[in-house]
Amino acid sequence: MEKIPFVTKEQVEEIVKTYPTPFHLYDEKGILENVRRLKQAFSWNKGYREFFAVKATPNPFILELLKKEGVGTDCSSYTELLMSEAVGITGHDIMFSSNVTPAKDFRKAAELGAIINFDDITHIDYFAGIAPFPETMCCRYNPGGKFAIHNQIMDSPQDAKYGMTREQLTEAYRKLKAKGVKHFGLHAFLASNTVTNSYYPKLARILFQTAVELQRETGVHIAFINLSGGVGIPYTPDKEPNDILKIGEGVREAYEEILTPAGMGDVAIYTELGRFMLGPYGCLVTQAIHEKHIYKEYIGCDACAANLMRPAIYGAYHHITVLGKEHEPCDHMYDVTGGLCENNDKFAVDRMLPKIDIGDYLVIHDAGAHGFAMGYNYNGKLRSAELLLREDGSVQMIRRAETPKDYFATFDFTGLFDDEKYWE
Ligand SMILES: *Cc1c(COP(=O)(O)O)cnc(C)c1O
Repeated sequence: MEKIPFVTKEQVEEIVKTYPTPFHLYDEKGILENVRRLKQAFSWNKGYREFFAVKATPNPFILELLKKEGVGTDCSSYTELLMSEAVGITGHDIMFSSNVTPAKDFRKAAELGAIINFDDITHIDYFAGIAPFPETMCCRYNPGGKFAIHNQIMDSPQDAKYGMTREQLTEAYRKLKAKGVKHFGLHAFLASNTVTNSYYPKLARILFQTAVELQRETGVHIAFINLSGGVGIPYTPDKEPNDILKIGEGVREAYEEILTPAGMGDVAIYTELGRFMLGPYGCLVTQAIHEKHIYKEYIGCDACAANLMRPAIYGAYHHITVLGKEHEPCDHMYDVTGGLCENNDKFAVDRMLPKIDIGDYLVIHDAGAHGFAMGYNYNGKLRSAELLLREDGSVQMIRRAETPKDYFATFDFTGLFDDEKYWE
């Protein structure tokens, strides 16, 4: 599908008068339309709930926006819990799906009344020394083997560090029941960034079947099935986006085939989507500041991998639009780079684009999830601002850009260098 930025050159020229590049920009309208489609897709399920995976876009203003649509949070660390609490998302509006969890994090999750999702059976005894067992708890399943859809291998759960084996699940439910837990959830995350309408329905079948078995074996009440994240987005223009309505329908069919006949027609469906919720509705806006002609043609930008790491670490494709040149022929081949002293700091390699001139603004698409979030400070690069393009066309700064003062904030220079103002 053709990739069209949600922002125009004229809008960016206006925005940079206040907020210089680079910056991450989010599209309120796109986010809201998407979340409403998601809710519609699962409206057949009375208890349906989305818990936004905070790690994808950890910004309180984004959480607040989603909260107004009835979306909770999926947290996996202490600070994610704090952020959730700060915007008033607490109790069963939080799913705590962590792994290798420190005691402090479990304690905070329990204190907030979050639904705690155990990644491992040993966490039961670990947790016993931390807080009383809540009445509702969840366990994460890892079925092992390879996970395939239509004979195509999507991922290798056997190599993933997450979740419990099938035997451990039964034991965990029994143990938790003995500790007074009354309502149970079952969770699994078996493939990431799936661009197929079959992933959730296939996963749902596995989890529904397992839930029926567990219920028979242990007699516990299964209150919800958590399909977690993994519904992906088409980063490349040759792919078609997932149809969330079809996905919801596929899950409903599995539900009516497996859960309803087993007398489990009251089970709620939960999701913990991150990428699907925000990915396409955020972009990184950067300006071309250098061009270089050696053995290849390079365009150097004012953003770098510290602002968007996915191309550098996964070789991930992110589509690029040169603003104002949307209709010009892509007859130039470039490596589009940042300024890190790392040769993998390239947003694109051998990419056909229109002729780029210094000063052009580039939109790097699909950076709304796992974009800013994975940012870092290598080479002393500072994190950019995050801006929200409101439905009415106005722009709200939802996180300011870092300054050198932020970068130096964790040092105590007492006695070494006393001129704090130096960084300002
Ligand atoms: C990362 C993660 C998600 C979100 O994954 P997406 O691919 O962004 O949808 C959900 N749940 C858990 C436990 C995760 O680790």
